[in-house]
Amino acid sequence: MTHAIRVHETGGPEVMRWESIEVGDPGPGEVRLRQTAVGLNFIDVYFRTGLYPFPSLPGTPGMEAAGVVEAVGEGVTTLAEGDRVAYATPPPGAYAEARIMAAERLVKLPDNIEERTAAAMMLRGMTAHYLLRRIHRVEAGDRILIHAAAGGVGLIVCQWAKHLGATVIGTVGSDEKAEIARAHGCDHPIVYTREDFAARVREITGGEGVAAVYDSVGKETFMGSLDCLRPRGMMVTFGNASGPVPPFEPILLAKKGSLFLTRPTLFHYTSTPEDLAWASGDLFEVVGSGAVRIEINQTYALKDAAQAHKDLEGRKTTGSSVLLP
Ligand code: NDP
Repeated sequence: MTHAIRVHETGGPEVMRWESIEVGDPGPGEVRLRQTAVGLNFIDVYFRTGLYPFPSLPGTPGMEAAGVVEAVGEGVTTLAEGDRVAYATPPPGAYAEARIMAAERLVKLPDNIEERTAAAMMLRGMTAHYLLRRIHRVEAGDRILIHAAAGGVGLIVCQWAKHLGATVIGTVGSDEKAEIARAHGCDHPIVYTREDFAARVREITGGEGVAAVYDSVGKETFMGSLDCLRPRGMMVTFGNASGPVPPFEPILLAKKGSLFLTRPTLFHYTSTPEDLAWASGDLFEVVGSGAVRIEINQTYALKDAAQAHKDLEGRKTTGSSVLLP
């Protein structure tokens, strides 16, 4: 019997139920994957609460997992039974012991990447890739600001940006998180629950501002983030941990220094096989070389996903969290 978390109506963590499911056989171009580790991401919360809609209900959350190919459908030539693979892609459905996946969305794991590590990094790490290598190509000497610096995306961005030679400023919710961020390449952690982070960024940069702000907190930080940028700086709003950013007047971007603004999502940076190979290849390289460490600071049984969501939403987690089927 195969199990999955299913959501019959969106709401609090308690709407996630552990139920038995039929997985079936893979169709043309598909494989059946036995999942050994599932990534916990904030986007899973957005689906569970209804901020982002499931394709249909009941729905299974989850965008990221790793595992072993169990059966291969017609026409699949790139993968074989027994291959170790991982993914970070819609549609949601990763909170399951097994699932059917399109073969072209799976990435083969190199021998030096464990499945748990893969489940902890594919989505967050490929996000860090497009943030630091594509939207704004971070150069040595750049100053950048990353919010929630001790979180899953945050710890990877801090280390990768540092590896690229940037000066990293990061916001965090507590002194303990400040130490964790500092140990992962954040030069200037700011505890934004008690300090005015925009004023601190001005101070740290001698009034100049940073080249790019990576803001996944959303509603609570958006306006302050605009005040952290140098003229023609890049504002990247890529998440809503505190709620979605309310509407604002674009003229504000001119007033604050002809700023650039983008609201990206990973899937538009990995939707072609070339983009997926680029992002995953660069990620495997920085993790394989030791430049970026993937910290799995929380693990949960997959059936206890509700507790994992409570901890993530309650700002209790640091680094990455993995759910074990
Ligand atoms: P994190 O591990 O970073 O957890 C979220 C963190 O946000 C918390 O730990 C907390 O850190 C901070 N936070 C600030 N305000 C709140 C609040 N009101 N409620 C809850 N948390 C808050 O999660 P992930 O690494 O999974 O994701 C980070 C963000 O990046 C999310 O917003 C996610 O949606 C976004 N994202 C976007 C992608 C994209 O392509 N657009 C892809 C991947 C992630 P602290 O206590 O230090 O403030």
